[in-house]
Amino acid sequence: MFAKVIVDIAHSQVDKVFEYSCPDGLAVGSRVKVPFGGRKIDGFVIDVSPLSSYPADKVKSIAEVFDEPPALLPECLALTEKISRRYRVPKAASLRLFMPSEMRLGKVRVSVRRFAKFKSEVPLSASAKKQAQALEFIKNEGEADFAKFAGKFGRGAVDALKEKGAIEVEERKVARSPFSDIAPTYEKKVLTKAQTDAIESIEKSDKTVNLIHGVTGSGKTEIYLSVIARQIERGKTAIFLVPEISLTPQMLSQLRARFGGAAAIMHSGLSAGERFDEWWRLRSGEAKIAIGARSAIFAPLENIGAIIIDEEHDTSYSSESAPRYSTVDVAKLRAQYNGAKLILGSATPSVETYVKAKSGQYNLITLKDRINGKPLPEILIADMTKEVRRGNNTPFSAALREELDRTLKCGKQAILFLNRRGYSRTVMCRDCGYVAKCEHCDVTLTYHSEENCLKCHYCGARYRMISACPDCGGTHVLYGGIGTQKVVAELNRLFPSARVLRMDNDTVSGKDGQYKILKQFSQKDADILVGTQMIAKGHDFPAVTLVGILDADMSLYFSDSRSGERTFQLITQVSGRSGRAGETGKVVLQTCSPDNYILRYAVGYDYNGFFENEIALRKATLFPPYSLICRVMVTCGNNDKALQTLKEVYFAIDKLRESRPEEFLFLNKMHSPVKRIQGKHRYQVLMRLASKALIEEIYGIAVQATSADCPVYVEENPANLS
Ligand code: ADP
Ligand code: ZN
Repeated sequence: MFAKVIVDIAHSQVDKVFEYSCPDGLAVGSRVKVPFGGRKIDGFVIDVSPLSSYPADKVKSIAEVFDEPPALLPECLALTEKISRRYRVPKAASLRLFMPSEMRLGKVRVSVRRFAKFKSEVPLSASAKKQAQALEFIKNEGEADFAKFAGKFGRGAVDALKEKGAIEVEERKVARSPFSDIAPTYEKKVLTKAQTDAIESIEKSDKTVNLIHGVTGSGKTEIYLSVIARQIERGKTAIFLVPEISLTPQMLSQLRARFGGAAAIMHSGLSAGERFDEWWRLRSGEAKIAIGARSAIFAPLENIGAIIIDEEHDTSYSSESAPRYSTVDVAKLRAQYNGAKLILGSATPSVETYVKAKSGQYNLITLKDRINGKPLPEILIADMTKEVRRGNNTPFSAALREELDRTLKCGKQAILFLNRRGYSRTVMCRDCGYVAKCEHCDVTLTYHSEENCLKCHYCGARYRMISACPDCGGTHVLYGGIGTQKVVAELNRLFPSARVLRMDNDTVSGKDGQYKILKQFSQKDADILVGTQMIAKGHDFPAVTLVGILDADMSLYFSDSRSGERTFQLITQVSGRSGRAGETGKVVLQTCSPDNYILRYAVGYDYNGFFENEIALRKATLFPPYSLICRVMVTCGNNDKALQTLKEVYFAIDKLRESRPEEFLFLNKMHSPVKRIQGKHRYQVLMRLASKALIEEIYGIAVQATSADCPVYVEENPANLS
């Protein structure tokens, strides 16, 4: 027999199929070792056939076969093809998505433990006291961990017993189980009518994609769990994606309570051994539900019945390294392959998703109310320009101080949220709320300290940095926000008896750093949690009745054409942490532009108003979803080479434009806003395309221009243009 093999080298020059002779019965999807250019390297069998395209004596044979069952599923091979074609990456690079890296590098092996088991009574000499004791012990216990047993009675005695046939030693595979301290918690609930209707609607719909647009606290999680339960009853499997690693423990405890060991975690925060074992639990069929962040979409599950993407609008669902896939797109492919339901959920769906849901491409389910008709928290706007004029230079408005005081007095908890996105780079006047914007693009300018200038990330225009506000002449021009540290210090000064926890990239480390802080807070070991984006998402803390958003503007004016959308999402998400159980919650939203329309929609929880406004704007300006923003990045340590490559790329794309001018709404080449990162010069060709018609050709141009020391890559609607 002959095997068609893809070797595990992600390079376009070896991106072809090689043939090797192989033993009969070799399964498609097996990982193998093959001789290649004088070495032995890993490969993946994508097909087996009795015939070879080469003379039999020219074909080398496979050196080694790993794994039983084969690591890669037939579905994975099919998807690999599609992903490689769509994003123009070598097949090996796509295949790698489907398995933990530890497995490829062969570093981690199955973990085995040895057990001693009682076998039979044997005669012992009177002097062998230790052996007699050991035999007595094991006879009573039946079995024991071998290392502990030998430690207790001595290796000599134990070996002698084994020799005489009194005990036997058995090796057993043990799974390194992550988060084993997470207790299953789940209260059985009677589903509300809205929840059962949603589940029915998903069951009955003939559409693959379902969007649950439900306000925060409307019971979406409960719907997801019920959908999963139904699929498991039918003998199917499920994938459950959350946007943030820190949310997995919370979901896992509910999944464990309902599905026991059938739930497995897949995410980068696990140790190598845990990741390996969880992956095999899924592949072997022992576990049937994969939960995790983005990469869990590649879970080795067969017969998938449902894929759930919670907080579908979250930017963490687009990959930032090659292949730069969209998780929702991959999920659609997997859902179609398996005939499964794809369920997207959010209180603030992305504009692109909502357009599709409204037009009937997706099944749209709307949940307008919180569970038990609980009102959404009231959002108060605090105008920070007034505070500054009154001489208040603390991070807290008078309203927020008052509410904090009240909250602490009645023993409730508060969350203070700081916006880290675009941190320290937007120029704003704290006296009047003026923000520096591009004259051509109507997006906010970003401050670049190395050149002391302001730049537009969409057209490359440069402006002089200002020291006084051009509108009011005020000199409280601010680029940058307050840090979490400063906020904690101020809290300690103003509320000395309050217990404050801080969560941001500086305080959180290790795989369960976030988990520990969140656990402390949910056990009420602290009164106030101060944090960045990490605390905005999905968490359910029943005792929180106050949320303070310290600087709502920072993302409003982030230089991104979607900054309005992001701000609306962020405010709604963060506000949703308040008043989830018992008492009604409150939110204080601090801003320097209290009249901004995005904030007004957010305060009124008016998603539809926001959406209609936003979509009209996008249509008028031809921004996504009415176009595609596409950036081709060129990065190289050598500036001349980077420039040369940039010219090549631009030339090729410009030729494409000549043949299809109507596809190009904007095209230019320029320095990237951040000119150098880690010694690599960064240039870009930036374009706005009317459709995706030419996207594969643009990927092709990038592949052509790529060389070992000068990678060129394509980003579609990048979340970050710096
Ligand atoms: P969402 O995911 O939409 O933000 P959750 O699923 O977290 O909302 O639900 C909000 C709160 O309501 C949670 O505390 C949850 O336990 C509770 N809840 C959900 N469904 C029910 C129900 N049918 N009966 C009682 N409580 C419920
Ligand atoms: Zn501009």
